[in-house]
Amino acid sequence: MKLAQLTAYLESLAPLAYQEDYDNSGLIVGRPDMEVQQAMVSLDCTEAVVDEAIATGCQVIISHHPIVFKGLKRFNGKTYVERVVEKAIRNNIALYAIHTNLDNMMTGVNARICETLGLTNTRILAPKQNLLKKLVTYVPVAQAEQVRKALFHAGAGHIGDYSECSFNAEGTGTFKGGENSDPYVGEPGIRHHEEEMRIETVYPANLESKIIMALVLAHPYEEVAYDLYNLTNQHQQIGSGMIGDLEVPMDEAEFLADVKTSMDCAVIRHTAFTGKQVKKVAVCGGSGGFLLKHAVAAGADVFVTADYKYHEFFDAEGKIVIADIGHFESEQFTQQLLCEIIQEKFSNFAIRLTKVNTNPVKYFI
Ligand SMILES: [Zn+2]
Repeated sequence: MKLAQLTAYLESLAPLAYQEDYDNSGLIVGRPDMEVQQAMVSLDCTEAVVDEAIATGCQVIISHHPIVFKGLKRFNGKTYVERVVEKAIRNNIALYAIHTNLDNMMTGVNARICETLGLTNTRILAPKQNLLKKLVTYVPVAQAEQVRKALFHAGAGHIGDYSECSFNAEGTGTFKGGENSDPYVGEPGIRHHEEEMRIETVYPANLESKIIMALVLAHPYEEVAYDLYNLTNQHQQIGSGMIGDLEVPMDEAEFLADVKTSMDCAVIRHTAFTGKQVKKVAVCGGSGGFLLKHAVAAGADVFVTADYKYHEFFDAEGKIVIADIGHFESEQFTQQLLCEIIQEKFSNFAIRLTKVNTNPVKYFI
């Protein structure tokens, strides 16, 4: 298939609009129209992974971490980033990253950690704001349903587990067409009164152009009247970290022993035990330190994350146990997650999980 088919699918699950500002998710090397028969999935895109892709006949590497974060000015092979990009281009291998846009999804990296730790009642720890907008449009009553259907089909009207959400109120619209107009009802130059439905519905801001296109196509009027509103509501399905409950509370040492086994880590760096039972657990794959306040406010007993520095451990203040399980360890199951979501959609497409352990951190035990 074309690479664009694969990337469009991944971006329908984890839209690029949901990546953080510092990120560089998306197609980094390669052409959308290139043919791909086999993909390699990895957490990091290292030279060893590119070599493996070449040796196994993969045309695209889908990694969680982007190989390129910032602008590159030279391509003389001095750094591993330049060498990876050069090798990929020379060997016609596309590089694609699905990073913080996947982290921020309710079904992404953190969901997989929650699942692995056996957490229930999971929700996003720090839902994002300003991702939702509202559309209000006015449609002749007879065409209201066709417009609603088109809007829902384009992605409007989702609130949590509910779809096809809208508010509808009838009223009277007026208009007078100019001499060159061709009004759907009424005559040019004469004010027309029409019984209309005011339809209100929320939509994700990143789908705006698609939704307006659907509205204009489904609406009978020559000039479609609509208003777009910015909302400051939180988007409960998009954001950083997750939190959930243990089905059976356990003591702190017991819980960390469990984490060590299920997350396959050699060591866990953690703050002092508080002596409480562990019931609520916050998680964030990768560097999650910025979420500590959210974890404490949400009543988490333990915060499972990575990349903690010495001074940051003090911030636990005896309120919570910070458990740093290692960046690679916290995100390792993301590779399986990616394989599964691709396989689910394209069952005949070959996916290979890298055999390279890309973790740059080694433990001398
Ligand atoms: Zn990461």
